[in-house]
Amino acid sequence: MGIEHIVIVGGGTAGWMAAAALSRLKAGPRPLRITLVESEAIGTVGVGEATIPPIVGFNELLGIDERELLSAVQGTFKLGIQFENWGKQGDSYIHPFGAYGYSMGGISFHHVWHRMAAGGDNRPLQVFNLETMAAAFGKFARTEDYKRDDLPPINYAYHIDAGRYAAFLRKYAEARGVVRREGRVNDVALDPENGFVASIALDDESRIEGDLFVDCSGFRGLLIEQALGTGYEDWTHWLPCDRAVALPCLREDGSPPPPFTRATAHRAGWQWQVPLQHRNGNGHVYCSAFMEDSEALDILTGNIAGKPQADPNFLRFTTGRRKKFWNRNVVALGLSAGFMEPLESTSIHLINTGIDKLISLLSLDGVTQAQEDTFNRLTGREYARIRDFLILHYNATSRDDSPFWNHVRTMDVPDTLTEKVELFKANGQIFREEDELFTETSWAAVMMGQGIRMRSHNPMADALDPATTAREADEMERSIRFLVQHMPGHGDYLARYCPARAAA
Ligand code: FAD
Repeated sequence: MGIEHIVIVGGGTAGWMAAAALSRLKAGPRPLRITLVESEAIGTVGVGEATIPPIVGFNELLGIDERELLSAVQGTFKLGIQFENWGKQGDSYIHPFGAYGYSMGGISFHHVWHRMAAGGDNRPLQVFNLETMAAAFGKFARTEDYKRDDLPPINYAYHIDAGRYAAFLRKYAEARGVVRREGRVNDVALDPENGFVASIALDDESRIEGDLFVDCSGFRGLLIEQALGTGYEDWTHWLPCDRAVALPCLREDGSPPPPFTRATAHRAGWQWQVPLQHRNGNGHVYCSAFMEDSEALDILTGNIAGKPQADPNFLRFTTGRRKKFWNRNVVALGLSAGFMEPLESTSIHLINTGIDKLISLLSLDGVTQAQEDTFNRLTGREYARIRDFLILHYNATSRDDSPFWNHVRTMDVPDTLTEKVELFKANGQIFREEDELFTETSWAAVMMGQGIRMRSHNPMADALDPATTAREADEMERSIRFLVQHMPGHGDYLARYCPARAAA
């Protein structure tokens, strides 16, 4: 059976990202027929505002103008995440988007830095990272603004207003022929021969038939779970937080938005602060086994500065993943595929890579087992590597000030994570496996930020000429300092480059 009509169920971030990307495909000379169904009465999850750098490429591929997008979504730039109180109370470190230095003699810079430190150089690794230094001083510029070969490029992502982003993409997709249907799906019919989804029924009694269904219905997994019974792998034993309360607030003190997300650890979880141009997104992720909802809300309200802009939004989740992300003719994207807490802003990214894989595998001749298996294998690996990285934040702590931290510090972790940490401790080696999302710098930043030390370095670092490496490291540090000094403040940059529409 060929694919002529794709039906997307759900109009949150996942649904409209998928609709926008798929709207660019053609079936021969014609655009592919795409219908998106969403229900205003059900609404969207309403959170999900911090992203990571590949989002820039996603929007570029769609031909979206960055300034127009950021103005429309009240967006700001993000250079990394600042973690506070994670290794121990009072600690603070930045997980930056760019690399620490550049490789020398074929080995990563943190090995060279370790050797220099052993020889008495007391500069912290952070001074060799542009994004960390710019974030620390609240500065921002894009590589296009300075374009000089002797200065390092900058890596960034966005903070976006989730509702406005979906609305922006909706306009984009509808202009390219995607048909939006308002209504609640109340029945799913399966083909008795092969168990594929044949059609969905809406509450106005209309029925929509399709050849491929993209399930973007959120946590409920309307097609992938409720209709197909795919099953769920529960990872709560490794990532025990299972609740969040979100509470956006105005930024009333007139301070410019910082160019980073903030993740502050509390007694049984952590709080996010996502700075937009007009407000801060705030929320507290916590573990219900160790904290009541009322206490979680008290902690959140006690740690936000501005006037709340909405009622607290309490959310429940089970960390884990669908046993299959692609099952028969249903592909799950977004929350219907699985969920890992937003500590490293990975959910929107997983929507993005899910769409990439779907488009790469899509054949208009129909669905094959090979497509389904490949999608599931690749996505499963992606989820597992991200999972390990998130567990690291909890497990690599010396906090012992609450039962929650005692639990996560001493819990069993996946062998894949133990191996990664052991290798790093031995000589700083980090292998990026199977195209995993997080880079060497990411792993090094979090491991070192939370107190894991490398005992030694790659012996190749000792083979490098000390005078040459010291000179190159000096130049690196100088060029970063020079660049940061000459960058505008993040707030000024936003006001000039992409002022929020409402404020313009
Ligand atoms: P939803 O937003 O829930 O949308 C589901 C859609 O399906 C809605 O349009 C709904 O109306 C529709 N629907 C459902 N049932 C029916 C039905 N029966 N009939 C018709 N329509 C139906 N991600 C990040 O990348 N960065 C972050 O900082 C981040 N923070 C987060 C914080 C929290 C606390 C949580 C829970 C998530 C966070 N995420 C984050 C994840 C992010 O919010 C989601 O990945 C993203 O919003 C996509 O959601 P979705 O579109 O899959 O689901």
